[in-house]
Amino acid sequence: MKSIEELVRPNIRSLAPYSSARNEYSGHVARVFLDANENPYNKPFNRYPDPLQEEVKTALRKVKGVREECIFLGNGSDEAIDLPYRIFCRPGVDNVVAIEPTYGMYKVCADINDVEYRPVLLDEKFQINAEKLLNATDANTKLIWICSPNNPTGNCINRDEIVKVITGFDGIVIVDEAYSDFSSERPLRLELDKHPNLIVLNTLSKAWGCAAIRLGMAFASKEIIDIFNKVKYPYNINLLTQQQALESLKDPFTVDNWVKTLLQERERLMAAVKELPITEEVYPTDANFFLAKVTDAQKIYDYLVEEGIIVRNRTRVQLCHNCLRITIGTRSENAELLGALRKY
Ligand SMILES: *Cc1c(COP(=O)(O)O)cnc(C)c1O
Repeated sequence: MKSIEELVRPNIRSLAPYSSARNEYSGHVARVFLDANENPYNKPFNRYPDPLQEEVKTALRKVKGVREECIFLGNGSDEAIDLPYRIFCRPGVDNVVAIEPTYGMYKVCADINDVEYRPVLLDEKFQINAEKLLNATDANTKLIWICSPNNPTGNCINRDEIVKVITGFDGIVIVDEAYSDFSSERPLRLELDKHPNLIVLNTLSKAWGCAAIRLGMAFASKEIIDIFNKVKYPYNINLLTQQQALESLKDPFTVDNWVKTLLQERERLMAAVKELPITEEVYPTDANFFLAKVTDAQKIYDYLVEEGIIVRNRTRVQLCHNCLRITIGTRSENAELLGALRKY
């Protein structure tokens, strides 16, 4: 197993990070801040926000069961997806391996960073084979991307196979658990101590109902998180986002209730969609959406748009021919969708 230090790009290894005014003093309780060229008026927005978001991380520790020093906060998961490329992958030289189909941002960030992206097709049950993923790697493979529950397929990826990939790979494995709040599978973020090469992603955008505030998370060893913090923009999480995250994190019971309601609605909606004449298959899911294979995805998608109802047409995605991805809405939104589909 290579050390994290060996895996990091040489320029990042030797990087002297930006030292902000707020980084440089510590240990004293300060009263007068004349260090950052801020305007003293218009509190609280006049001050730079906490660059390491300590309060939010303390709240997250309680909710997520991960120590503060093992948490990175990003401007959405988007930032937590981009940073591993910038930290580990030499442009034009290194490559990454990912399951296929999966979330589109892993490939977009690979392309932006000029890093070769190697998709490995899932089987017909949307599952991975660890050996097949590992066989796609070579000496320049730095990252393997796995998403579980996976988007757009909805299913959890087999845990034993994920662990085989993590333990069998001489690089970093990133498991995106954006939808883990909807799944009964034990989250991998609770196994970080066993796997020094594992990064787990989470977000407030889905079960937590906070897509607008843009708060994503990476959980990993302190060694990896320290590198994330060195490379990120100094004040990457603004004050409004930190404040709203603290408010939301105070109330995990509301989220539990949302999840329970959405899972009930999901069962109802899936059962009803299964009975429609246009439906060929409804795939099992562990997330707040499901994939349905229909007679003609493009036509049905266009029809729904006419009706003012937007679902995701995944027909051009590998293994998802004629599939629509349907997010679970409120009871009345789901009823509207069903009503429209029954009229089709
Ligand atoms: C929706 C989603 C996210 C969330 O991204 P944010 O930038 O945090 O909003 C992350 N990963 C997957 C797989 C998703 O489907």
